[in-house]
Amino acid sequence: MTDVVDAPAAVKPINHWISGKPYAGQSGRSGPVFNPATGEQSGAVDFASVEEIDQAVQAAKAAFPAWRAMSLAKRAELFFAIRELFHERREEIAKFLTLEHGKVLSDAVGEVTRGLEVIEFCCGLPHLLKGDMTEQASTGIDVYSIRQPLGVVAGITPFNFPAMVPMWMWAPALACGNTFVLKPSEKDPSASVFTAELLKQAGLPDGVFNVVHGDKVAVDAILEHPDIAAVSFVGSTPIAQYVYETATAKGKRCQALGGAKNHMIVLPDADIEMAADAAVSAAYGSAGERCMAVSMLVAVGDVADPLIDAIKQRIPNVKVGDGMDSSSEMGPLITREHRDKVASYIGADDGAKVVVDGREGATDDGGFFLAPTLLDDLKPGMKAYEDEIFGPVLGVTRVSTYDEAIRLINENPYGNGTAIFTRDGGVARQFQFDVQAGMVGINVPIPVPVAYYSFGGWKNSLFGDRHIYGPEGIDFYTRSKVVTSRWPDPATSKVDLGFPQTR
Ligand code: NAD
Repeated sequence: MTDVVDAPAAVKPINHWISGKPYAGQSGRSGPVFNPATGEQSGAVDFASVEEIDQAVQAAKAAFPAWRAMSLAKRAELFFAIRELFHERREEIAKFLTLEHGKVLSDAVGEVTRGLEVIEFCCGLPHLLKGDMTEQASTGIDVYSIRQPLGVVAGITPFNFPAMVPMWMWAPALACGNTFVLKPSEKDPSASVFTAELLKQAGLPDGVFNVVHGDKVAVDAILEHPDIAAVSFVGSTPIAQYVYETATAKGKRCQALGGAKNHMIVLPDADIEMAADAAVSAAYGSAGERCMAVSMLVAVGDVADPLIDAIKQRIPNVKVGDGMDSSSEMGPLITREHRDKVASYIGADDGAKVVVDGREGATDDGGFFLAPTLLDDLKPGMKAYEDEIFGPVLGVTRVSTYDEAIRLINENPYGNGTAIFTRDGGVARQFQFDVQAGMVGINVPIPVPVAYYSFGGWKNSLFGDRHIYGPEGIDFYTRSKVVTSRWPDPATSKVDLGFPQTR
């Protein structure tokens, strides 16, 4: 967790957002926010106390009755306005991401655009909230189901997608008629406050969307709060498991998405140049700080040497630099500590080969940079193979057969994304049948599902039984009610103590 600091006078204070306005934290605790490209502290973010979390929850609770009662037509109209505004302002949102997360601006715009797709999906909310109806289920009796919101729901989000992951949560949650408390990552919190400002500008009633910043104190207060009905979490596996276990023990609905170690299999018949392009893009995009990044290449048969050569040729062309510079393709890592931790994997495992050492390509002018790194001959049991490194480090493991490759993936404790590169449709189809992961790419290295499917991994990459956004997101944020109804002639009414039967 981030250390609590006294903010230097020059840095921007980053406040909570409660009841439709900024709320300057009163806890006396804050955390530093950096520009990772320069290493300078740019902001100090308020850390909420238990009482401040309660204030946000009470604001959301007070806003709930009117929000859930708003007609679906009006709510959809508001969602169209939200979509327009976020689309218009997407570059401004993206700038917050580049300045606090470090990812290059084009990648940040891409993040916002993928998040916007979830908002667009939610514009169809009247259709998404449709129930079922059975006429004449029994004589004179109709049965129908309706979907209703849960109440106040909360989202706790990671640093690596400061705009998109919150959109995965708040958009469907609000579309379903819930009110929302967001606890974004304390490392890059400004996009969430800007989101709150835009939602207000679009016409969202005060209290429907609230932002509270903080660390474990804030998270635990959310997990313990009796008025929060459900918690969505995205972050690392140990915290996801903790959040899931704590929230569900408190009777809350919970979906908690965790970390990943995504393997990409390359078969001997694959197009090597295409596989190398895909591997470089998926391993080093966003400096490898994506839960869907390819971090392990599984080279089958004799494909390893030509594939490694093709990747080696491409690495020097990846331009590493400040994300605000439009020529940069890869930015810095989120913090100095994280950069140093990622770098510590290079050369740490006996038997593994360092093919390209990113420490050599990194300029040290204060920013948290590490250049693309390539490790060969990684094997299960080695640290760089087992851990989610979450940086620009691509590992290669060599196997002889497809069966060995699939076993590696299926024995891995994570099961977020995976990909296969081949020209053989039959093997690809077998892969989709065999592989134990929630999101599968066939010649697609980062298979993040489109907004009308749902996103989520298997095994230690997701705790809970509902994936996020898409149809499962709508399920997660609603509960169903089944109504059995009749309008009989009172003259036919009589007492009948038997258990009701259909007839
Ligand atoms: P993190 O787990 O450190 O933090 C996530 C959230 O949990 C933050 O809001 C943070 O404040 C809070 N938190 C951190 N430590 C806590 C603690 N001890 N108790 C309570 N709350 C705590 O994750 P991160 O470093 O911000 O994000 C990177 C991780 O997120 C990676 O593991 C990545 O794979 C994962 N991730 C997963 C997905 C997915 O969809 N599966 C998507 C994005 C990121």
